[in-house]
Amino acid sequence: MPEQARVHNRELLLRMLYREGPRSRADLARRTGLTRVSVSDVVSDLLSDHLVREVGMRAGSRPGKPAMMLEFNEHAYQTVAVDLSHSTLYRGAVLDLGGAVVTRRQVEIAGSAGTDALAKVVGLVRELCQEVTAPLLGIGVGTPGIVDLGGVVLSAPNLGLKDVNLQSVLAEEFACPVHVANDANAAALAERSYAESAADSLLVRVGVGVGAGLLLGGTPVLGSRFAAGEIGHVVVDPDSGRSCVCGKNGCLETWLSTRRIQEDLSEARTEGERDRVLAVAGESLGCVLAPIVAALNVSEIVLSGPQRVLEGPLAAATMETIRQRALTEVHGDIVLRLSELGDDIVLRGATAMVMSQQLGIV
Ligand SMILES: [Zn+2]
Repeated sequence: MPEQARVHNRELLLRMLYREGPRSRADLARRTGLTRVSVSDVVSDLLSDHLVREVGMRAGSRPGKPAMMLEFNEHAYQTVAVDLSHSTLYRGAVLDLGGAVVTRRQVEIAGSAGTDALAKVVGLVRELCQEVTAPLLGIGVGTPGIVDLGGVVLSAPNLGLKDVNLQSVLAEEFACPVHVANDANAAALAERSYAESAADSLLVRVGVGVGAGLLLGGTPVLGSRFAAGEIGHVVVDPDSGRSCVCGKNGCLETWLSTRRIQEDLSEARTEGERDRVLAVAGESLGCVLAPIVAALNVSEIVLSGPQRVLEGPLAAATMETIRQRALTEVHGDIVLRLSELGDDIVLRGATAMVMSQQLGIV
């Protein structure tokens, strides 16, 4: 259909300008295989939407007429992003389309759950919407728990939410597009968008709980019941005597959640004991990741969470355990690294989510 083709072409050109930087109309036609007429047509739409701007003639000395360069305009719109994955605060920000934070707001959770928690989230979004200084592209939320494609939080024990349609609550209140996803999935999108993680990658987020966001071919994998990546309650050692909030013994979280690691570290007397605690946590993570690496052949694992805990012995032990347990010939070149996006990873992921849904930029 002509209209679908137009949307497709628009997204294609936007994506190229966003990912690859300034290009001329002729470059875009060459790179995409679209005709010059189609490119000019779509570009004039993008110019009038302010999503693209002309930034002057190409520098340098190519033969022929100098070409006008086009650039993605990251200030055309802003997003409101909220991160509900922290233990004491709901964090929020207004971001531009380059993922830069324009304004921040946060609210203390102070024990609130259920409807109280929901009211605080709505209040936080309202405050942020008042700070927006460009047209609002949409609202993105990263939340712990299991979230379906329609933005229904099926289960988020940390927030005391069950079967709450967070997307429609916010969309009705603020009359704009809203996208809600699990925090680890949002973080995986942030790595893809802003840190250029591999198309087949696994992001492990360590915080109050432990979760993972999985991208295959650059596309988030959610699973049949939207719980893909919920690795925190995979049992590593049922005989360990480490009891978990879920009722089982020896879940990954009992070694790796920030609270349990802090408890274990507080008992370490020497530097050596401290390193051992971290290495054991890394080994338990490696045990859980090895079969995932083997099954999916992902090429990159990214760890996101408290840097001083994750870097060093923990990351090294994770990698070593994966190497020991998965076939070295095919998985030997796997990269394990720490995320460099810091505390804003979920906020930036929430922005990436809105951009992907509203502009087709992934
Ligand atoms: Zn558990």
